[in-house]
Amino acid sequence: MHSDYDYLIIGGGMAADAAAKGIRELDADGTIGIVGEETTAPFPRPDLSKKLWIDPDYSEDDAALHTEDKTRATLHLGARAQNLDAEDRTVATDAGDTFGYGKLLIATGGHPRQLAGLAPSARVIYYRTLDHYHRLRAAAKGGPHVVVVGGGYIGSEITAALSQSGCTVTLVHPGAVVGEHFLPSELAEQYERAFTDAGVTIRAGVRVESGTTGPAGVELRLSDGSVAAADLAVVGLGIEPAGAIAGDGGIDRSADGGIVVDARLATSRPDVYAAGDVADYPDAILGRRRVEHVDNATEMGRTVGRIMAGSDEVYDHTPLFYSDVFDIGYEAVGTLDAELETVVDAQDDGYVVYYLDGDQVVGVLLWNVWDATDQARAVMRSGERPDSFAGLIT
Ligand SMILES: Cc1cc2nc3c(=O)[nH]c(=O)nc-3n(C[C@H](O)[C@H](O)[C@H](O)COP(=O)(O)OP(=O)(O)OC[C@H]3O[C@@H](n4cnc5c(N)ncnc54)[C@H](O)[C@@H]3O)c2cc1C
Repeated sequence: MHSDYDYLIIGGGMAADAAAKGIRELDADGTIGIVGEETTAPFPRPDLSKKLWIDPDYSEDDAALHTEDKTRATLHLGARAQNLDAEDRTVATDAGDTFGYGKLLIATGGHPRQLAGLAPSARVIYYRTLDHYHRLRAAAKGGPHVVVVGGGYIGSEITAALSQSGCTVTLVHPGAVVGEHFLPSELAEQYERAFTDAGVTIRAGVRVESGTTGPAGVELRLSDGSVAAADLAVVGLGIEPAGAIAGDGGIDRSADGGIVVDARLATSRPDVYAAGDVADYPDAILGRRRVEHVDNATEMGRTVGRIMAGSDEVYDHTPLFYSDVFDIGYEAVGTLDAELETVVDAQDDGYVVYYLDGDQVVGVLLWNVWDATDQARAVMRSGERPDSFAGLIT
Protein backbone atom coordinates (compact mmCIF):
# COMPACT_ATOMS: atom_id res chain seq x y z
CA MET A 1 0.00 0.00 0.00
CA HIS A 2 1.22 3.54 -0.74
CA SER A 3 -0.29 6.75 0.72
CA ASP A 4 0.75 10.39 0.34
CA TYR A 5 0.30 13.01 3.05
CA ASP A 6 0.96 16.74 3.19
CA TYR A 7 2.25 16.09 6.72
CA LEU A 8 3.60 12.71 7.75
CA ILE A 9 4.45 12.07 11.41
CA ILE A 10 6.53 9.06 12.46
CA GLY A 11 5.80 8.02 16.05
CA GLY A 12 2.44 7.84 17.79
CA GLY A 13 3.22 9.50 21.13
CA MET A 14 2.40 12.79 22.82
CA ALA A 15 4.63 14.91 20.56
CA ALA A 16 2.86 13.42 17.51
CA ASP A 17 -0.55 14.24 18.98
CA ALA A 18 0.49 17.80 19.84
CA ALA A 19 2.04 18.31 16.39
CA ALA A 20 -1.14 17.24 14.60
CA LYS A 21 -3.10 19.69 16.78
CA GLY A 22 -0.51 22.42 16.04
CA ILE A 23 -0.86 21.82 12.29
CA ARG A 24 -4.63 22.17 12.56
CA GLU A 25 -4.28 25.57 14.25
CA LEU A 26 -3.01 26.95 10.92
CA ASP A 27 -4.00 24.45 8.25
CA ALA A 28 -7.56 23.18 8.28
CA ASP A 29 -7.32 20.99 5.22
CA GLY A 30 -3.80 19.54 4.76
CA THR A 31 -3.72 15.76 5.03
CA ILE A 32 -1.98 14.32 8.12
CA GLY A 33 -0.78 10.73 8.51
CA ILE A 34 0.68 9.27 11.72
CA VAL A 35 2.71 6.04 11.62
CA GLY A 36 3.14 4.56 15.09
CA GLU A 37 4.53 1.21 16.15
CA GLU A 38 2.31 0.89 19.21
CA THR A 39 -1.14 -0.56 18.53
CA THR A 40 -2.83 2.13 20.64
CA ALA A 41 -3.52 5.79 19.79
CA PRO A 42 -1.35 8.52 21.39
CA PHE A 43 -1.94 8.53 25.16
CA PRO A 44 -0.61 10.71 28.03
CA ARG A 45 2.15 8.56 29.52
CA PRO A 46 2.37 10.43 32.88
CA ASP A 47 -1.06 9.05 33.77
CA LEU A 48 0.31 5.50 33.42
CA SER A 49 2.28 5.83 36.65
CA LYS A 50 0.10 8.32 38.55
CA LYS A 51 -3.53 9.35 38.17
CA LEU A 52 -4.90 6.16 36.62
CA TRP A 53 -3.66 4.24 39.69
CA ILE A 54 -4.55 6.59 42.48
CA ASP A 55 -7.66 8.52 41.39
CA PRO A 56 -10.69 6.20 41.30
CA ASP A 57 -12.74 8.88 39.49
CA TYR A 58 -10.24 9.18 36.63
CA SER A 59 -10.54 6.79 33.68
CA GLU A 60 -8.67 6.07 30.46
CA ASP A 61 -11.51 7.87 28.65
CA ASP A 62 -10.88 10.98 30.75
CA ALA A 63 -7.18 10.82 29.85
CA ALA A 64 -7.60 10.11 26.11
CA LEU A 65 -6.09 12.64 23.68
CA HIS A 66 -8.56 11.95 20.82
CA THR A 67 -5.95 12.66 18.15
CA GLU A 68 -8.00 11.26 15.29
CA ASP A 69 -11.26 13.04 16.19
CA LYS A 70 -9.61 16.36 16.94
CA THR A 71 -7.25 16.54 13.95
CA ARG A 72 -8.69 14.20 11.29
CA ALA A 73 -5.22 12.61 11.08
CA THR A 74 -5.14 9.07 9.71
CA LEU A 75 -3.49 6.75 12.22
CA HIS A 76 -1.44 3.84 10.90
CA LEU A 77 -0.87 1.89 14.13
CA GLY A 78 1.20 -1.21 14.75
CA ALA A 79 3.50 -0.03 11.95
CA ARG A 80 7.23 0.58 12.45
CA ALA A 81 8.84 3.06 10.07
CA GLN A 82 12.19 1.57 9.18
CA ASN A 83 13.39 3.31 6.07
CA LEU A 84 13.52 7.01 5.25
CA ASP A 85 14.51 8.19 1.78
CA ALA A 86 14.85 11.95 2.20
CA GLU A 87 15.66 12.46 -1.54
CA ASP A 88 12.57 10.60 -2.67
CA ARG A 89 10.50 11.93 0.28
CA THR A 90 9.23 8.49 1.22
CA VAL A 91 9.10 6.37 4.36
CA ALA A 92 8.71 2.57 4.32
CA THR A 93 7.40 0.44 7.17
CA ASP A 94 8.27 -3.03 8.39
CA ALA A 95 5.08 -4.31 6.69
CA GLY A 96 6.28 -3.00 3.32
CA ASP A 97 3.87 -0.05 3.13
CA THR A 98 5.24 3.24 1.82
CA PHE A 99 4.28 6.83 2.57
CA GLY A 100 5.12 9.98 0.62
CA TYR A 101 5.31 13.33 2.41
CA GLY A 102 5.34 17.06 1.83
CA LYS A 103 6.71 17.68 5.34
CA LEU A 104 7.94 14.98 7.69
CA LEU A 105 8.10 15.00 11.49
CA ILE A 106 10.14 12.41 13.38
CA ALA A 107 8.61 12.10 16.86
CA THR A 108 9.81 8.63 17.75
CA GLY A 109 10.65 9.32 21.42
CA GLY A 110 12.58 6.42 22.84
CA HIS A 111 12.49 2.80 23.84
CA PRO A 112 13.02 1.65 27.43
CA ARG A 113 16.63 0.86 28.26
CA GLN A 114 16.93 -2.89 28.83
CA LEU A 115 19.13 -4.92 31.13
CA ALA A 116 21.47 -7.29 29.29
CA GLY A 117 20.58 -10.27 31.45
CA LEU A 118 16.81 -9.77 31.67
CA ALA A 119 14.60 -10.13 28.60
CA PRO A 120 11.05 -8.68 28.56
CA SER A 121 8.44 -11.38 29.22
CA ALA A 122 5.05 -11.93 30.82
CA ARG A 123 6.75 -11.41 34.19
CA VAL A 124 9.20 -8.66 33.24
CA ILE A 125 7.79 -5.31 32.08
CA TYR A 126 9.99 -2.47 30.81
CA TYR A 127 7.35 0.07 31.69
CA ARG A 128 6.35 2.67 29.09
CA THR A 129 3.09 2.00 27.21
CA LEU A 130 -0.66 1.77 27.73
CA ASP A 131 -0.36 -1.94 27.01
CA HIS A 132 2.16 -2.24 29.86
CA TYR A 133 -0.29 -0.41 32.14
CA HIS A 134 -3.09 -2.82 31.21
CA ARG A 135 -0.88 -5.84 31.95
CA LEU A 136 0.41 -4.46 35.25
CA ARG A 137 -3.03 -3.29 36.36
CA ALA A 138 -4.48 -6.74 35.71
CA ALA A 139 -1.63 -8.39 37.63
CA ALA A 140 -1.89 -5.91 40.51
CA LYS A 141 -5.46 -6.99 41.28
CA GLY A 142 -4.17 -10.07 43.09
CA GLY A 143 -1.85 -8.01 45.33
CA PRO A 144 1.34 -9.65 44.06
CA HIS A 145 4.91 -9.05 45.17
CA VAL A 146 6.52 -6.79 42.57
CA VAL A 147 10.19 -5.96 42.35
CA VAL A 148 10.73 -2.54 40.78
CA VAL A 149 14.15 -1.92 39.24
CA GLY A 150 15.34 1.70 39.05
CA GLY A 151 15.09 4.63 41.46
CA GLY A 152 14.47 7.34 38.86
CA TYR A 153 11.10 9.01 38.47
CA ILE A 154 9.38 6.14 36.67
CA GLY A 155 10.65 3.53 39.14
CA SER A 156 9.71 5.77 42.07
CA GLU A 157 6.25 6.61 40.77
CA ILE A 158 5.34 3.05 39.83
CA THR A 159 6.62 1.84 43.23
CA ALA A 160 4.28 4.32 44.94
CA ALA A 161 1.36 3.45 42.64
CA LEU A 162 1.75 -0.30 43.19
CA SER A 163 2.19 0.12 46.93
CA GLN A 164 -0.96 2.28 47.07
CA SER A 165 -2.79 -0.43 45.08
CA GLY A 166 -2.21 -3.20 47.61
CA CYS A 167 0.94 -4.79 46.15
CA THR A 168 4.01 -5.75 48.15
CA VAL A 169 6.87 -3.83 46.58
CA THR A 170 10.66 -4.17 46.67
CA LEU A 171 12.58 -1.31 45.06
CA VAL A 172 16.06 -2.15 43.77
CA HIS A 173 18.35 0.78 42.96
CA PRO A 174 22.10 1.46 42.77
CA GLY A 175 22.25 4.52 45.04
CA ALA A 176 22.56 4.70 48.80
CA VAL A 177 19.31 6.64 49.28
CA VAL A 178 16.33 6.88 46.88
CA GLY A 179 16.44 10.22 45.07
CA GLU A 180 20.03 11.03 46.04
CA HIS A 181 20.99 11.51 42.38
CA PHE A 182 18.83 14.63 42.13
CA LEU A 183 18.03 15.74 45.68
CA PRO A 184 20.20 17.33 48.38
CA SER A 185 20.72 14.81 51.19
CA GLU A 186 18.11 16.22 53.62
CA LEU A 187 15.37 16.01 50.98
CA ALA A 188 16.52 12.60 49.71
CA GLU A 189 16.10 11.26 53.25
CA GLN A 190 12.52 12.63 53.41
CA TYR A 191 11.82 11.21 49.95
CA GLU A 192 13.06 7.75 50.92
CA ARG A 193 11.08 7.86 54.16
CA ALA A 194 7.85 8.21 52.15
CA PHE A 195 8.62 4.79 50.62
CA THR A 196 9.64 3.01 53.80
CA ASP A 197 6.67 4.47 55.72
CA ALA A 198 4.42 2.91 53.07
CA GLY A 199 6.02 -0.50 53.66
CA VAL A 200 8.23 -0.60 50.55
CA THR A 201 11.37 -2.74 50.97
CA ILE A 202 14.39 -0.94 49.57
CA ARG A 203 17.42 -2.84 48.24
CA ALA A 204 19.96 -0.02 47.95
CA GLY A 205 23.42 0.01 46.41
CA VAL A 206 22.81 -2.89 44.02
CA ARG A 207 22.34 -3.45 40.30
CA VAL A 208 20.56 -6.30 38.54
CA GLU A 209 23.09 -8.58 36.86
CA SER A 210 20.73 -11.14 35.36
CA GLY A 211 17.41 -12.78 35.98
CA THR A 212 15.30 -15.85 35.37
CA THR A 213 11.56 -16.21 35.07
CA GLY A 214 9.42 -19.30 35.52
CA PRO A 215 5.89 -20.35 36.46
CA ALA A 216 6.52 -19.37 40.08
CA GLY A 217 7.82 -15.88 39.44
CA VAL A 218 10.96 -13.94 38.70
CA GLU A 219 14.38 -14.11 40.36
CA LEU A 220 16.82 -11.27 39.89
CA ARG A 221 20.48 -11.82 40.67
CA LEU A 222 21.92 -8.66 42.20
CA SER A 223 25.46 -7.28 42.11
CA ASP A 224 26.06 -8.07 45.82
CA GLY A 225 25.44 -11.79 45.12
CA SER A 226 21.95 -11.81 46.60
CA VAL A 227 18.65 -12.62 44.86
CA ALA A 228 15.44 -10.59 44.74
CA ALA A 229 12.48 -12.92 44.14
CA ALA A 230 8.96 -11.71 43.31
CA ASP A 231 5.88 -12.49 41.22
CA LEU A 232 6.93 -10.00 38.58
CA ALA A 233 9.48 -7.30 37.82
CA VAL A 234 8.85 -3.78 36.54
CA VAL A 235 11.87 -2.00 35.15
CA GLY A 236 12.26 1.79 34.76
CA LEU A 237 15.77 2.68 33.66
CA GLY A 238 15.12 5.55 31.25
CA ILE A 239 15.10 5.38 27.47
CA GLU A 240 17.35 5.05 24.47
CA PRO A 241 16.34 7.72 21.94
CA ALA A 242 14.75 6.14 18.85
CA GLY A 243 16.67 8.15 16.27
CA ALA A 244 17.79 5.33 13.95
CA ILE A 245 15.29 6.28 11.24
CA ALA A 246 17.04 9.66 10.92
CA GLY A 247 20.40 7.96 10.42
CA ASP A 248 18.89 6.09 7.50
CA GLY A 249 17.84 9.40 5.97
CA GLY A 250 21.32 10.95 6.36
CA ILE A 251 20.14 13.33 9.08
CA ASP A 252 22.54 14.67 11.73
CA ARG A 253 22.33 12.89 15.09
CA SER A 254 23.65 13.68 18.57
CA ALA A 255 26.22 11.54 20.38
CA ASP A 256 23.49 9.82 22.40
CA GLY A 257 21.44 8.85 19.34
CA GLY A 258 18.99 11.78 19.37
CA ILE A 259 18.16 13.86 16.29
CA VAL A 260 19.76 17.30 15.99
CA VAL A 261 17.38 20.18 15.24
CA ASP A 262 17.71 23.98 15.14
CA ALA A 263 15.54 26.51 16.97
CA ARG A 264 12.84 25.99 14.34
CA LEU A 265 12.99 22.24 15.03
CA ALA A 266 14.29 21.53 11.53
CA THR A 267 16.77 18.70 10.97
CA SER A 268 19.72 18.85 8.57
CA ARG A 269 17.47 17.71 5.67
CA PRO A 270 14.89 20.00 4.02
CA ASP A 271 11.29 19.62 5.22
CA VAL A 272 12.25 17.04 7.84
CA TYR A 273 11.64 18.03 11.48
CA ALA A 274 12.01 16.31 14.85
CA ALA A 275 10.35 16.93 18.23
CA GLY A 276 9.82 15.45 21.68
CA ASP A 277 12.09 13.06 23.59
CA VAL A 278 14.14 12.25 20.48
CA ALA A 279 15.01 15.86 19.56
CA ASP A 280 18.35 17.44 20.52
CA TYR A 281 17.46 21.16 20.44
CA PRO A 282 19.05 24.49 21.45
CA ASP A 283 17.24 25.51 24.65
CA ALA A 284 16.85 29.29 24.91
CA ILE A 285 18.19 29.38 28.50
CA LEU A 286 20.20 26.19 29.00
CA GLY A 287 21.74 25.49 25.61
CA ARG A 288 21.66 22.34 23.51
CA ARG A 289 20.04 19.32 25.15
CA ARG A 290 17.54 16.50 24.83
CA VAL A 291 14.66 16.53 27.30
CA GLU A 292 12.56 13.49 28.21
CA HIS A 293 9.58 15.28 29.73
CA VAL A 294 5.96 15.71 28.81
CA ASP A 295 5.87 19.52 28.84
CA ASN A 296 8.64 19.48 26.24
CA ALA A 297 6.85 16.85 24.13
CA THR A 298 3.58 18.78 24.06
CA GLU A 299 4.97 22.33 23.71
CA MET A 300 7.62 21.34 21.17
CA GLY A 301 5.09 19.16 19.34
CA ARG A 302 2.57 21.97 19.06
CA THR A 303 5.26 24.42 17.96
CA VAL A 304 6.67 22.12 15.28
CA GLY A 305 3.17 21.49 13.96
CA ARG A 306 2.61 25.23 13.59
CA ILE A 307 6.05 25.69 12.00
CA MET A 308 5.41 22.91 9.47
CA ALA A 309 2.10 24.61 8.65
CA GLY A 310 3.84 27.91 7.87
CA SER A 311 4.42 29.78 11.16
CA ASP A 312 7.72 31.70 11.39
CA GLU A 313 8.12 31.14 15.16
CA VAL A 314 11.01 29.46 17.00
CA TYR A 315 10.84 27.04 19.95
CA ASP A 316 11.91 29.13 22.94
CA HIS A 317 10.13 27.33 25.78
CA THR A 318 12.30 25.95 28.57
CA PRO A 319 10.21 22.98 29.71
CA LEU A 320 9.19 22.04 33.21
CA PHE A 321 9.09 18.57 34.70
CA TYR A 322 6.78 17.26 37.42
CA SER A 323 6.40 14.14 39.50
CA ASP A 324 4.15 12.86 42.30
CA VAL A 325 4.90 10.06 44.77
CA PHE A 326 2.72 9.42 47.83
CA ASP A 327 1.98 12.91 49.22
CA ILE A 328 5.12 14.51 47.76
CA GLY A 329 4.76 16.50 44.56
CA TYR A 330 7.24 18.69 42.77
CA GLU A 331 7.82 20.71 39.64
CA ALA A 332 11.25 21.55 38.29
CA VAL A 333 13.00 23.40 35.49
CA GLY A 334 16.49 22.73 34.14
CA THR A 335 19.17 20.37 35.41
CA LEU A 336 18.67 18.62 38.75
CA ASP A 337 21.97 16.97 39.57
CA ALA A 338 22.86 16.47 43.23
CA GLU A 339 26.57 16.65 42.34
CA LEU A 340 26.15 20.35 41.53
CA GLU A 341 26.28 22.96 44.30
CA THR A 342 22.79 23.21 45.79
CA VAL A 343 21.15 25.91 47.89
CA VAL A 344 17.98 24.92 49.77
CA ASP A 345 15.41 27.61 50.66
CA ALA A 346 12.90 26.15 53.16
CA GLN A 347 9.44 27.64 52.76
CA ASP A 348 6.19 27.24 54.73
CA ASP A 349 5.05 24.00 53.15
CA GLY A 350 7.93 23.03 50.91
CA TYR A 351 11.39 23.80 49.60
CA VAL A 352 12.95 25.60 46.68
CA VAL A 353 16.29 24.05 45.67
CA TYR A 354 18.70 25.94 43.39
CA TYR A 355 21.31 23.96 41.42
CA LEU A 356 24.39 26.01 40.53
CA ASP A 357 27.05 25.47 37.90
CA GLY A 358 29.64 28.08 38.87
CA ASP A 359 27.62 31.26 39.43
CA GLN A 360 24.79 30.27 37.13
CA VAL A 361 21.54 28.74 38.37
CA VAL A 362 21.01 25.84 35.93
CA GLY A 363 18.12 24.11 37.69
CA VAL A 364 15.35 24.85 40.18
CA LEU A 365 13.32 22.28 42.10
CA LEU A 366 9.97 23.38 43.52
CA TRP A 367 9.10 20.77 46.16
CA ASN A 368 5.48 21.21 47.24
CA VAL A 369 5.75 24.78 45.91
CA TRP A 370 3.37 25.54 43.05
CA ASP A 371 2.83 28.02 40.22
CA ALA A 372 6.42 29.23 40.38
CA THR A 373 8.02 27.78 37.25
CA ASP A 374 8.02 31.17 35.47
CA GLN A 375 9.88 32.67 38.44
CA ALA A 376 12.34 29.77 38.26
CA ARG A 377 12.95 30.42 34.55
CA ALA A 378 13.53 34.13 35.28
CA VAL A 379 16.20 33.29 37.90
CA MET A 380 17.91 30.92 35.47
CA ARG A 381 17.69 33.38 32.59
CA SER A 382 19.49 36.13 34.57
CA GLY A 383 22.70 34.07 34.33
CA GLU A 384 23.98 35.49 37.62
CA ARG A 385 24.30 34.21 41.16
CA PRO A 386 21.54 35.90 43.22
CA ASP A 387 22.73 38.01 46.20
CA SER A 388 20.35 36.06 48.41
CA PHE A 389 18.28 32.96 47.76
CA ALA A 390 15.91 33.40 50.72
CA GLY A 391 12.43 34.19 49.42
CA LEU A 392 13.73 34.69 45.85
CA ILE A 393 10.97 32.38 44.60
CA THR A 394 7.72 32.20 46.55
C1 LIG B 1 5.17 5.91 32.90
C2 LIG B 1 5.68 7.27 32.48
C3 LIG B 1 5.43 8.36 33.30
C4 LIG B 1 5.89 9.62 32.94
N1 LIG B 1 5.65 10.66 33.77
C5 LIG B 1 6.12 11.87 33.47
C6 LIG B 1 5.92 12.98 34.35
O1 LIG B 1 5.32 12.84 35.41
N2 LIG B 1 6.40 14.18 34.00
C7 LIG B 1 7.05 14.38 32.82
O2 LIG B 1 7.47 15.51 32.56
N3 LIG B 1 7.27 13.36 31.95
C8 LIG B 1 6.82 12.11 32.26
N4 LIG B 1 7.04 11.07 31.40
C9 LIG B 1 7.77 11.31 30.15
C10 LIG B 1 6.84 11.74 29.04
O3 LIG B 1 5.72 10.93 28.99
C11 LIG B 1 7.61 11.72 27.70
O4 LIG B 1 8.57 12.74 27.77
C12 LIG B 1 6.71 11.94 26.51
O5 LIG B 1 5.69 10.97 26.44
C13 LIG B 1 7.54 11.89 25.22
O6 LIG B 1 6.70 11.98 24.12
P1 LIG B 1 7.25 11.65 22.65
O7 LIG B 1 6.04 11.69 21.78
O8 LIG B 1 8.41 12.49 22.34
O9 LIG B 1 7.81 10.17 22.73
P2 LIG B 1 7.09 8.80 23.07
O10 LIG B 1 6.03 9.02 24.07
O11 LIG B 1 8.18 7.83 23.36
O12 LIG B 1 6.37 8.39 21.72
C14 LIG B 1 7.09 7.98 20.59
C15 LIG B 1 6.31 6.91 19.88
O13 LIG B 1 6.97 6.59 18.67
C16 LIG B 1 6.99 5.19 18.50
N5 LIG B 1 8.09 4.84 17.61
C17 LIG B 1 9.42 4.78 17.88
N6 LIG B 1 10.12 4.43 16.79
C18 LIG B 1 9.20 4.28 15.79
C19 LIG B 1 9.29 3.93 14.42
N7 LIG B 1 10.48 3.68 13.85
N8 LIG B 1 8.16 3.84 13.69
C20 LIG B 1 6.95 4.09 14.25
N9 LIG B 1 6.80 4.44 15.55
C21 LIG B 1 7.91 4.53 16.31
C22 LIG B 1 7.16 4.67 19.92
O14 LIG B 1 6.78 3.33 20.03
C23 LIG B 1 6.21 5.61 20.67
O15 LIG B 1 4.89 5.13 20.59
C24 LIG B 1 6.60 9.78 31.73
C25 LIG B 1 6.86 8.68 30.90
C26 LIG B 1 6.39 7.43 31.27
C27 LIG B 1 6.69 6.25 30.38
